[in-house]
Amino acid sequence: MAKLKVLLASSEVVPFAKTGGLADVAGSLPLALEELGVDIRVIMPKYASVKIAGNSTKIGKNIPVYFVENDDYFNRKELYGDKFGDYKDNLDRFAFFSREILERCKKEGFAPDIIHCNDWQTALVPVYLNTLYKYDIFFIDTKVLYTIHNMAYQGIFSKEEFPKMGLDWALFHINYFEFYDKVNLMKAGLIYSDAISTVSPTYAKEILTQEFGCGLEGVLRTRSNVLSGILNGIDYNLWSPEKDNKIFKKYSVETLRDKYVNKEMFQKEMGLKVDRNIPVFGMISRLADQKGADFVADIIDKMLNMKTQFVLLGTGDNKYHVIFEKIARKYPQSASISLKFDAVLAQKIYAASDMFFMPSRYEPCGLSQIISFKYGTIPVARQTGGLKDTVQEFDPKMGKGTGFTFVEPRSEDLLSAVKKSLSVYKDSPLWTSLVKSVMGLDYSWKTSAKEYINLFNRIMKK
Ligand code: ADP
Repeated sequence: MAKLKVLLASSEVVPFAKTGGLADVAGSLPLALEELGVDIRVIMPKYASVKIAGNSTKIGKNIPVYFVENDDYFNRKELYGDKFGDYKDNLDRFAFFSREILERCKKEGFAPDIIHCNDWQTALVPVYLNTLYKYDIFFIDTKVLYTIHNMAYQGIFSKEEFPKMGLDWALFHINYFEFYDKVNLMKAGLIYSDAISTVSPTYAKEILTQEFGCGLEGVLRTRSNVLSGILNGIDYNLWSPEKDNKIFKKYSVETLRDKYVNKEMFQKEMGLKVDRNIPVFGMISRLADQKGADFVADIIDKMLNMKTQFVLLGTGDNKYHVIFEKIARKYPQSASISLKFDAVLAQKIYAASDMFFMPSRYEPCGLSQIISFKYGTIPVARQTGGLKDTVQEFDPKMGKGTGFTFVEPRSEDLLSAVKKSLSVYKDSPLWTSLVKSVMGLDYSWKTSAKEYINLFNRIMKK
């Protein structure tokens, strides 16, 4: 049987460029697909952060990664915008990227069975395939899977920008791009793709509702027959305290005491009171309303009064920077606040923390809770989206469950979950057994990559 040919198109890919979970997925799913015999290739823009000579490289055993070059558009430090907001030419940039994805296929002589598009930055690929490239026999058998990583980022632009895409104005229509008199790239992408997926089963259901659909729930409902949810995995070669060179001391289930060496050294490095008995709550997050950092800010006084410590690594909306700078000043010995993006510090925090906050208002999948499990760090999470699929409430009597959860998006409910976690933390043998059990969970790509292959095969049969 011929190999399945898949091109994964993403605006960010680990290890070349990352702002969030999309990059983790785009950099690790291909490795698992390669192991399962897929001819998988990856394409992304060549940003200033991509330190590769030329316009391609390899990852995994032999996976080509193609870089789309355009100095005007991509040779910038940030991916989508800077402190002044989104880059003004994002539509030009990602329309260009999307066309280049198709042109590069032709240049490489690689006619994919499936182009796997991710988020609005590649949403124009299925549109172009069905319009400008409709009669191009090179792509006669090419189908598109569009994966939604977050409904809130749709690629919305003013209608004056429509001509930049090189498409017929007739497509500025409610059945295609038009969305409240604006251009919506995700909307057109969802309509033109052969299949749609999102990154957890629960989020796949949630986005059909008004609460989570961000205005596209109606479009999604018309396409619900081709919509599915596949849980993200992570790459345990990158995310594992046994292999992690960036943490103070490697550890495993067998050498769990060394997790607490990490904790003490981290406390020292960050100027916190050094004491392995003080429970440390970590949080690593984009500081956007989605992530619920305000719930944490609301309870911080009460929480730190209960003899705990709080460590935050995050960057995003200025209003959160202001809030957390204040907290940092107020609690120099018990709160460590780092308002930046720092991959190495993130690894140290996963290792050093006892609990990990994910009080998200919504969460398509969430990778941080899955990473936390591996580092023996227990999620305190809201029951929504992928968090619901991965974090089960711990029952101290039965000794079953994987974290501490709450349902309603309310600070007082987060505080209750914090209290539940602290009462188990006090029971040292029970806590240790919980920590050991989550370290043994398997959220590698093994299962989910197979689900993607089944989905690819179903799409090709259409
Ligand atoms: P999202 O994609 O919505 O931002 P996920 O939980 O899916 O959230 O993925 C977030 C990823 O980004 C994780 O790998 C997390 O460790 C990382 N991350 C988030 N913020 C930072 C930061 N400030 N510094 C380093 N890594 C970060």
